[in-house]
Amino acid sequence: METQNKLIDPFGRDVNYLRVSVTDRCDFRCTYCMAEDMQFLPKKDILSLEEIEEVCRAFMKLGTRKIRLTGGEPLVRKGIMQVINNLGKEVGGDLDELTITTNGSQLESKAEDLYNAGVRRINVSLDHLDPIKFKEITRWGDLEKVKIGLKKAREVGLKIKINTVAISEFNQSHLADILKWCGDEGFDMTIIEVMPMGDIGGDTRYGQYLPLSQVRMELEKQFTLVDLPERTSGPARYVSVKETNNKLGFITPLTHNFCESCNRVRLTCTGVLYMCLGQDDNADLKTVLREHGTDALEDAIRSAIGRKPKGHDFEISRKSNNVSVNRHMSLTGG
Ligand code: SAM
Ligand code: SF4
Repeated sequence: METQNKLIDPFGRDVNYLRVSVTDRCDFRCTYCMAEDMQFLPKKDILSLEEIEEVCRAFMKLGTRKIRLTGGEPLVRKGIMQVINNLGKEVGGDLDELTITTNGSQLESKAEDLYNAGVRRINVSLDHLDPIKFKEITRWGDLEKVKIGLKKAREVGLKIKINTVAISEFNQSHLADILKWCGDEGFDMTIIEVMPMGDIGGDTRYGQYLPLSQVRMELEKQFTLVDLPERTSGPARYVSVKETNNKLGFITPLTHNFCESCNRVRLTCTGVLYMCLGQDDNADLKTVLREHGTDALEDAIRSAIGRKPKGHDFEISRKSNNVSVNRHMSLTGG
């Protein structure tokens, strides 16, 4: 694609990766993500399925090669397979990849459809392998159901990466077990540092925060971690793990500044584009689309990318109230 049709930001970064939160709703209530009595948005505020596709296509025209659907729980959005099927047809043509981040609750029934639609890789979030602990962190989740879904996903040929949020005093000493289990199951794993997003009611985030530098040191007592040169233009750093024969990623937005190679932007389920996960500047693409139509979208997207900031400044400290960004991860998408 010619450079003029690409989205190049003021720092020369080629923005070719779009993450889309397709719903703020979820069938889990992970304690670090949502309050249990979370108030969800009215339907009129949420992009329709057709609008989601239209915005994705506008981005694809401007050089977006990779789209990840997330949420909330993307697979609980009614009719979402229509969007996945339509966008999936572009994989191998205008898109290199269509991927999904899911809690795994719907995989048993949806994995095959995902594969048939053109999805080849999924990220599945899982923070504990003990059913009681799993229930404790997700509040409403059923580990057995997720495991059945994972098995099905593997059977149909989906490549799986497990996302685990590192939470002090909850799964700190269990991360090695999850890594071993991932190796046995043929999954890669990514450990995520907890981020200060949205009011989650009650708990302070400081108690949950666990720097991944510490996690890595602990894992290195049991495993041989070999740094891999590969970079995803995202916040993950990868190592190969000799003993488990899989890959392990560390996503460290707080202890490591990954912004210099950031190639992504995020669309909320309300159609608002955030150029940086950790900053509030945004562009309301839903209003542009509803009031001025598809043609106006391209200009609005270009102008938004022209404001993509150099980086973010998340902070978790005892002094701050620990909410750097007021929106929830489920709105913006993880
Ligand atoms: N529901 C799907 C899931 O859980 O995979 C997709 C949406 S969820 C918001 C995406 C990812 O964000 C999950 O891996 C979740 O663990 C992570 N996440 C949510 N809140 C977070 C927070 N405050 N800090 C770090 N990661 C968070
Ligand atoms: Fe739902 Fe995912 Fe948030 Fe958990 S992390 S409450 S599964 S959106």
